[in-house]
Amino acid sequence: KHSAIKDCLQLKKKYDEEVTICGWVRTRRDSKKFSFIELNDGTCFASIQVIADAEIETYQNVLDASTGSSLQVTGILKESPGKGQKVEVHAQKVELLGIADSDYPLQKKRHSREFLRTIAHLRTRTNTFGAVFRVRHAASFAVNQFFNERGFVYLHTPIITASDCEGAGQMFRVSTLDALKPPLNDEKQVDYTQDFFGEETSLTVSGQLEAELFASALSKVYTFGPTFRAENSNTPRHLAEFWMIEPEMAFCDLQGNMDLAEEFIRYVITYILENCKEDMEFFNKWVEKGIIDSLQDLCKSDFERITYTEAIKALENAKKSFEYPVKWGMDIQTEHERYLTEEYLKKPVFVTDYPRDIKAFYMRVNDDEKTVAAMDLLVPRLGEIIGGSQREERLDVLKKNMEKHELDEATYSWYLDIRRYGTTPHAGFGLGFERLIMYLTGIENIRDVIPFPRTPGNAKF
Ligand code: ATP
Ligand code: MG
Ligand code: MG
Ligand code: MG
Repeated sequence: KHSAIKDCLQLKKKYDEEVTICGWVRTRRDSKKFSFIELNDGTCFASIQVIADAEIETYQNVLDASTGSSLQVTGILKESPGKGQKVEVHAQKVELLGIADSDYPLQKKRHSREFLRTIAHLRTRTNTFGAVFRVRHAASFAVNQFFNERGFVYLHTPIITASDCEGAGQMFRVSTLDALKPPLNDEKQVDYTQDFFGEETSLTVSGQLEAELFASALSKVYTFGPTFRAENSNTPRHLAEFWMIEPEMAFCDLQGNMDLAEEFIRYVITYILENCKEDMEFFNKWVEKGIIDSLQDLCKSDFERITYTEAIKALENAKKSFEYPVKWGMDIQTEHERYLTEEYLKKPVFVTDYPRDIKAFYMRVNDDEKTVAAMDLLVPRLGEIIGGSQREERLDVLKKNMEKHELDEATYSWYLDIRRYGTTPHAGFGLGFERLIMYLTGIENIRDVIPFPRTPGNAKF
């Protein structure tokens, strides 16, 4: 029966009331008569100051409480005379729950995020990562609330799948060979060379195709779950395992899709600014100066919308040279995305109507037959954060596209059925949750916004 430090600091408890709190020691200072402990339990950004008189019976526990140790403290909540915090706890009893060995790696006041990545399992104990993971939690709550308020059904799409949504050759194959080794007393004579599912399967790269199926029955659905891509490059924006938010809407076109995406981004920003004030102030001061103002500004004016063809023109006219030469038909690279959002327009921009040849088979072909009704949302500091499109609802056009992409009709017959039985214009998008958290916090490396980063060569914790 203890109180969260957050509740003590927010004075949900009264002055002169007895409280019991638990947490981990951030720092300890001793003078002759007193010890001062900064105790943190992760319920909020701030630590609470515990003052222990050398006279208390359990004072030896205080002296043994090294940085990182866990404590339970019972004491009286007092108004703090010092600057800064309003509240402190005058300890009556201090119990040492778990001592931290002297090689506890978080001894300094500040550690670089590069160093902390090498001890990813302990970095949660730092200010930065406490803040990141509280914001991540709040954002994930806001995501569900946003869709729920708008009548979307939360759909759990499969992790193991036989369809390749993106066709980008980034799928992790699911191997069932070991599981299917013949047991010693194999009486049934099963053919263990057969695949478990009877066909090749992989971890999902996107739940979109399955979401389309459900949108064509429930109208509005969204998925929010883990996604896997064998990204063989080491960039600060790609993980092998990330979380994706994918709404899918029947009776919706590209414009409606962009309207929703814009409303969504604003909603999550507003939610975080209101509900994670302390954490955001930390990012504002130490990680990305001015991020609060810039996120607030974002909510005041509309995002830009330009076509791919217009974007290419702007890049061709740019008074700078790019590493990757600009040409109609190319995929827009990160350097181009950053030019468009940071120099050319200076705000988030939807780029629409990409060349058909560089996009996936399911996107709706435009009347010009050269482009598709696709949209990417590009944002300053990051580049692409959302990829979406109106989906091809015409059976004959979709079949031709699949032929072009050498996709097997039999594997996708269920997907084609959506077009056979009451097809509708429909649209949706995919937003990388970690990219959103990077955008909200200013953290520049995607490894620092996910609890357990999966990257080439690393699946440790
Ligand atoms: P990128 O061009 O950055 O590789 P993409 O175009 O391959 O992204 P999409 O298939 O459009 O990605 O996926 C939708 C969204 O999912 C992207 O806009 C991005 O926010 C996110 N995303 C894609 N790949 C990754 C990844 N490997 N790690 C984290 N997020 C990702
Ligand atoms: Mg990619
Ligand atoms: Mg892309
Ligand atoms: Mg994309």
